[in-house]
Amino acid sequence: MKKRIALIAHDGKKAEMIGFVKDYKDVLSEMDIVATGTTGGLIEKTGLNVIKKLSGPKGGDAQIAAMAAEGELAGILFFRDPLGKHPHEPDVQMLLRICDVHDVPLATNPATAKYVLKGILAE
Ligand code: PGA
Repeated sequence: MKKRIALIAHDGKKAEMIGFVKDYKDVLSEMDIVATGTTGGLIEKTGLNVIKKLSGPKGGDAQIAAMAAEGELAGILFFRDPLGKHPHEPDVQMLLRICDVHDVPLATNPATAKYVLKGILAE
């Protein structure tokens, strides 16, 4: 069965996310990718298939958190922008908490994402 991974990037980190996705395109093409709306649309432009949820501020992070709580995700790569303000900060905190409650691998920056992705593949 394909591993399912969720990808999310705040606006200030979307360029980094697309760079990351291009670097790991071969690996990601073997996985089911779920993403928040805007991030997902950008990832699609690289040629990968994406299951798009709502945009983050409209509830996309909450939808992905629900999937994590249901045990549907092998991991989450969430490139947060620590320098930005986000109207959906409560949802962001909720997603982080849910990952800890359910012990779901979560990377919040590209350096960690590299290892999480490799770890998921090795499982
Ligand atoms: P977006 O949401 O991909 O729809 O921009 C990401 C976020 O801000 O959490």
